[in-house]
Amino acid sequence: MPDYSCVIRRVHALNSLHTKFERLGSAAGWPIYGITLSKNDMLPKIMILGGIHGDEPAGVEACLAFCDLNHQNWLNTLQFHIIPCLNPYGYVHNTRNNDQDIDINWAFSSKNLPEIQALCKFVNNQEYKTIISLHEDWESHGYYMYEYRKDVTTIGQNILKRVAEVCPINLEREIDGVSATNGLVDELDLEKRAKIRGLGIPIALFQDHTTRFVTTETPTSLNMTCRIEAQVTAIQAMIENHISLKL
Ligand SMILES: [Zn+2]
Repeated sequence: MPDYSCVIRRVHALNSLHTKFERLGSAAGWPIYGITLSKNDMLPKIMILGGIHGDEPAGVEACLAFCDLNHQNWLNTLQFHIIPCLNPYGYVHNTRNNDQDIDINWAFSSKNLPEIQALCKFVNNQEYKTIISLHEDWESHGYYMYEYRKDVTTIGQNILKRVAEVCPINLEREIDGVSATNGLVDELDLEKRAKIRGLGIPIALFQDHTTRFVTTETPTSLNMTCRIEAQVTAIQAMIENHISLKL
């Protein structure tokens, strides 16, 4: 059984001049943390979300691994808001859903859910350049991703090229019922998706808080080291694209 007290310890151990963490709330007795990496609160912001589905632990590990990297150069250009584990109950019990058996990724309208309240507290009045949400897929044999964007340059294939160096890519022409190209799911009809699945975190945050929403999916069948490396590589590639392309 995954040990959330280890996540708590790692968050509390974060110790750099430009790192702070706060308790955004709690779910089923477990704290939900928001971490901020920032040198200058006027700089553009990136958000990184992990552990929305409790049985997808590589995203949690990747958020914490990212916090331990050397950010000094990145923090001259960007700030980061990170929630390493939005669904601690699911993480501890290795379940997709929370303790009320709700898939919080598709329950953004349920404002009474503590996980959604914690997320809303963090994103309140914030505008992000990119939000990246780290997920895993039990059925896929390779890495793939979604990129929702509003009139901004696509960086999906740039990210995939980098991830391909550390993890196989899902090259199927159709992923999750939608056509895909080299691991990038083609543009989705968000209104249709919202009608089918409800107002999810990806759609709600994309509408109101960011110009780009990226969802990454690592194949759960691969070993954890590879999956964490794939997620961290995707985050790094996204940041480097922001800096080099001046997005
Ligand atoms: Zn997921």
